[in-house]
Amino acid sequence: MTFPHRDSVQRAADLLAVLLVASPEPASVAQVLREHGEPDPSLSPEDVAALRAAALELREVFAAPDVASAASVLNALFGKYAGPPRLTDHDDGYGWHLHADAADDGPWGAWLVTSSALGLAALLAERQDVPGGLCASPSCGRPFAHTGGGSPRRYCSARCATRERVAAHRART
Ligand SMILES: [Zn+2]
Repeated sequence: MTFPHRDSVQRAADLLAVLLVASPEPASVAQVLREHGEPDPSLSPEDVAALRAAALELREVFAAPDVASAASVLNALFGKYAGPPRLTDHDDGYGWHLHADAADDGPWGAWLVTSSALGLAALLAERQDVPGGLCASPSCGRPFAHTGGGSPRRYCSARCATRERVAAHRART
C-alpha cells in the first residue's frame, strides 16, 4: 500500500520544477503527469498556463519559513479552491482516499492546487513540521518534498548539496 499524500507531494514538487520557469514546455509537463500516473494528459496552452498559476500559489507552501506559516498558506488555498472533502476508491491503486477538488473533471489548475494542498496538509500534520522546502542552493531554488525520514534537508538533491559543499570549501581556502 502506498500513501497517496506522499505521492501527491512528490508529484507537486516534480510539477513545480517544470512549471516554475518562464515558459513551461507542455511536453515536459505532460511527461511528469504521466510519470505520476495520469494516463493521458493532453494539455492545451491554456491548461499549461493554469497549471503554472497553480504552481506559483503552491510554491508559497514550499517557501514558508515555518510550520505555522505553511499551515496558513494551505488553509488559504483550501478556502479558495477546495470543495467538501469526499472519500473515493476510484481505480488508481490507492484504495479509499480523500479528494477535495470542487469537481471530478475540473480544470487542471484547481486540480493541482487541491490535490497537492491535501497531500501537503496531510504530510504537515504527520510530521508536525513543514511538508517541503526550497533548495538552499542560490543557483537552484527548486521545491522539494520532505517525504523521507531522517534529518531535515536543505537541498533538492545530492547534486546541489555537493556543489554547495564544494563552493563553501573553496570560499574558505
Ligand atoms: Zn537544488
